[in-house]
Amino acid sequence: MKALEDKIRAEGKILPGPVLKVSSFLNHQMDSDFIMELGRALAERFREDGATKILTIESSGIAIAVAAGAALHVPVLFAKKHRTSNVSGMLYQTLVHSYTHGTDYTVVVEREYLKADDRVLIIDDFLANGKAVEGLLDLASQAGAKVVGAGIVIEKGFQEGGEKLRADGLRVESLAIIDSMDENGIVFRES
Ligand code: 5GP
Repeated sequence: MKALEDKIRAEGKILPGPVLKVSSFLNHQMDSDFIMELGRALAERFREDGATKILTIESSGIAIAVAAGAALHVPVLFAKKHRTSNVSGMLYQTLVHSYTHGTDYTVVVEREYLKADDRVLIIDDFLANGKAVEGLLDLASQAGAKVVGAGIVIEKGFQEGGEKLRADGLRVESLAIIDSMDENGIVFRES
């Protein structure tokens, strides 16, 4: 998506990790009009897939998931970070490794909001090594729900997540795929 690539080039900052900081429009301050546009663009790619629910992960996925949910007129469920890993009969839970913090954390959803007859569209802001999406796939699978695909705003194509998830048969759609980013600049994959 050209407008997204232009905005990343103009406002993105590359940090060690490598982490792309897009705090001016996506991860801290949010450009509400642009986020709605991104959400609509993701929704378009899955318009025919009959999603009944969007599933994302707290906290950076929520805004974009709501934007996509509004475009598809479906509810948005976000996996919540949870302090303990005690198994509760009311919850589905899974362990996720955080790329940006380097730690593991448990996320949960209440069973009553994720059902076997749901068709789930996973949405997140970034795809790096795929751990966040894998955690959401695990939650959907515990519920017996079908996952129609994953919609990502920015995929870091030089990390393994996208390739691995696609090889496992998941449809992954990303609005921008970065093939490399360093002091020489950011190279986007041709779409
Ligand atoms: P993964 O689980 O695919 O390794 O990483 C995806 C998650 O880590 C996303 O939910 C996102 O919050 C965070 N993340 C990964 N890479 C980046 C990055 O380069 N920039 C930002 N802002 N977040 C990232």
